[in-house]
Amino acid sequence: MDNLNSRKTPPPELHLFNSIPERLSTVPVKELGSVLPGPSLIEIPGRISPPLFISVLLHGNETTGFLAMQEIIRKFDLLKKRSPREILLFVGNINAAMLGVRRQTDEPDYNRIWNNGNQPEHLLAEEVLRQVSRRKPFAAVDIHNNTGKNPHYACINRTDDAFVNLARRFSKTIVYFTEPHEVISMALSRHCPSVTLECGFSGDSGGFCHACNYLEQCLTLPQEELFSPPTNRHNDVFHTIGRITVPYRSQLGFGSCPGQVDLCFRDDLEKLNFTTVPAGTKLGESAGNINNLKVTDNKDRDVTTEYFSFDDNAITTRKTMTPSMFTKNETIIHQDCFGYIMEPYPLENQ
Ligand SMILES: [Zn+2]
Repeated sequence: MDNLNSRKTPPPELHLFNSIPERLSTVPVKELGSVLPGPSLIEIPGRISPPLFISVLLHGNETTGFLAMQEIIRKFDLLKKRSPREILLFVGNINAAMLGVRRQTDEPDYNRIWNNGNQPEHLLAEEVLRQVSRRKPFAAVDIHNNTGKNPHYACINRTDDAFVNLARRFSKTIVYFTEPHEVISMALSRHCPSVTLECGFSGDSGGFCHACNYLEQCLTLPQEELFSPPTNRHNDVFHTIGRITVPYRSQLGFGSCPGQVDLCFRDDLEKLNFTTVPAGTKLGESAGNINNLKVTDNKDRDVTTEYFSFDDNAITTRKTMTPSMFTKNETIIHQDCFGYIMEPYPLENQ
């Protein structure tokens, strides 16, 4: 965290609602605080229980999930009628959402607070999980966007059939990951099948429609159907094996990089996401040996030299790899990471 000791953001408090606040379905994200005073857990009554857990805006700049929920409320007229199924809706980082940022600089990432810790946000997460274990949802959906160009895909943290089938209903592209383990989907996977939806760029209408359609299926289809394999069983399943980071506060550039930067990457970097990148592919250049990429594996070991060489300041892949989430957004690279390395992960019985 950038300013742990000079925290100005007040500790968040969880607000509980047992019905939908009246203006929730129409309020613009920038004014969300006028309806929800902070992180909120909203119980939406439905004709069938147990509820579907839905989380949105864990990252403030990723609005697709919230906009899709507004559409679901309007479409099913949920201010007046019961939902086809009960919903437990968690709206996460309200303040960051109003500012249009992933998180504020002096608070932790709301999707890295779900496995203990001593910040006020960890207590908030514990309280949400207490409510989850009380309400026993049958499935959980966490909705996100990417800042770099990626296909729409679903992530899972376990490979049991119900998880895989819930994921493949959203996309043929599935990512199985176990790190970072502090994400909400990992915590929820101890309670019910859970999935993370990555809906492309925030604000993109294709991602919005895709999320709306998926939520509608989760609310209207029988549980057995949601957990069974769909007719088209072809999937590309990847396993995240490494996380790529850049040095703290390094200056980054893309393309021709006029002026002084520490790392200069190729301009078409995001096009490499979810493609097979052969060994010997140059990703960019570094100004010196100390300012290089770092790759950490799932056991937190530094495996950089297994994947990249830095001869003559050129950053080159050493082996064939499938990257994801490469982004050119410098703030996100520093707040989160530069991208992930994945490998194909064929599932049995597919
Ligand atoms: Zn996100």
